[in-house]
Amino acid sequence: MEDPENLSQPGDGSLKEACGVFGIFVPGRKVSSLVYDGLYALQHRGQESAGMAVSDGEAVTVYKDMGLVPNVFDERTLTALPGDLAIGHTRYSTTGASTWRNAQPIFRSMGQAGFALGHNGNLTNTAQLSEDLGMLPGLAASDSDVIGELIARNYHQGQPTVPTHAEEGLVGSLLRVLPRLSGAFSLVLMDEQRVIGVRDPNGFRPLCLGSLDDGWVLASESPALDVVGASFNREVDPGEMVVIDSSGVRSYRPFPASSVDPRLCIFEFVYFARPDARLYGVEVHGARRRMGALLAEVAPVEADVVMGVPDSGVPAAEGYARASGIPYGQGLVKNRYIGRTFISPDQTQRERSVRRKLNPLREAIEGKRLIVVDDSIVRGTTTAAMVAMLREAGAAEVHLRVSSPPYVWPCHYGIDTPDREHLLAAGRSLEEIRELLGADSVAYLGLEALMEATGAPKAGFCNACLTGDYPVAVPLKIGKTVLEGTLAKRSVPLAGASAP
Ligand code: SF4
Repeated sequence: MEDPENLSQPGDGSLKEACGVFGIFVPGRKVSSLVYDGLYALQHRGQESAGMAVSDGEAVTVYKDMGLVPNVFDERTLTALPGDLAIGHTRYSTTGASTWRNAQPIFRSMGQAGFALGHNGNLTNTAQLSEDLGMLPGLAASDSDVIGELIARNYHQGQPTVPTHAEEGLVGSLLRVLPRLSGAFSLVLMDEQRVIGVRDPNGFRPLCLGSLDDGWVLASESPALDVVGASFNREVDPGEMVVIDSSGVRSYRPFPASSVDPRLCIFEFVYFARPDARLYGVEVHGARRRMGALLAEVAPVEADVVMGVPDSGVPAAEGYARASGIPYGQGLVKNRYIGRTFISPDQTQRERSVRRKLNPLREAIEGKRLIVVDDSIVRGTTTAAMVAMLREAGAAEVHLRVSSPPYVWPCHYGIDTPDREHLLAAGRSLEEIRELLGADSVAYLGLEALMEATGAPKAGFCNACLTGDYPVAVPLKIGKTVLEGTLAKRSVPLAGASAP
């Protein structure tokens, strides 16, 4: 990925994940510090804000703020949050501004009852839902806010009002509301007595269920289960809602069976998920190494050393080196402590921004023919600056190898991407891309090889940003008007290797 830090830097040309979610119920045990650990393990999914909602069985308390998990919570705060049932959230904004108001969990109260909600993903029918709710355009702070409003308005206390519903309250409301939502949503919700996890019918964003001896845990990724000592139980199915309360775990299927079509975001494997996460039963790190190995097969080139763009390009670079027999070496040092940098409006600024994060190891680079492996290129601006930096450090040749196909369509399912005209590979030939990046050669991994590398090629993936094949209708932007529509499937040629 172009931005090796995956920090929240508007306009820097990198992809940003939309959020991490966590939920836990351990009867009789105070859970705030476990939520903290779980959120810490999910920090990579969102660095703008963090929050948790905790219940002691009678009242829900929410604490959230802008910033990283360790900046938002300290020991005193965690001690002051009572309860054995909680949800948590780390946020990167893809809809709604980066403000405290949009930090999650969102909380709504209806008389004596209340619920909290954390959302990972993007709805694609927010405009329609807001209109149905009679909300004036712009009134909803975000799509997550609209979900909260829908649940609140459909909330009835007491006995079920719908014969098929076993329960009312939050569960009953969700059974009414969920089928109306379109797009990507892995949700965690809670009221005073239960924690609920929901995954949309395509399962764009991950969500898994784990168990402790005496409780249950929900998390975006399995490492957040490991860190609290929970065992991985299973992934929440696309289209499934799990309710965890004092009687255990119950599963509901609130969506029409015809809408259930697993399409996990392929970029969870390529970049977003932690390398130690398991998706579709496969550890992500191994999949990334296989991507590199297959890239070496389809795009070989003579060189002296293979290096990865830290950290996300490293496993694929290792795989490339092993398969090609060319030694792996470190050529770039990353500053691990860099915080938010500011918008980089011109080339000089972008070069500065790259230099803040990466510095070349001159002795390892000087006079060498380099193969530089990254997982993806979005705008290409920071990649071009990195190539220039390597040349300046004395590299004899720079051959870029990308362990995913060209990124040519914007994402509408929770990943922050620029408009199509700002995507480097959209409408450009491989030779044009090479020239713009200033590399000696550029090659991408093909889609089929990428699927094979996951180790679960038939499991069901979204690859819309690579193919234009959007599984769920997306808003079409026409001028400044946003309409609901479906982008026609368009095929784009997938690049192989350019001649070195
Ligand atoms: S469009 Fe791309 S980034 Fe977005 S969910 Fe699909 S595969 Fe992931």
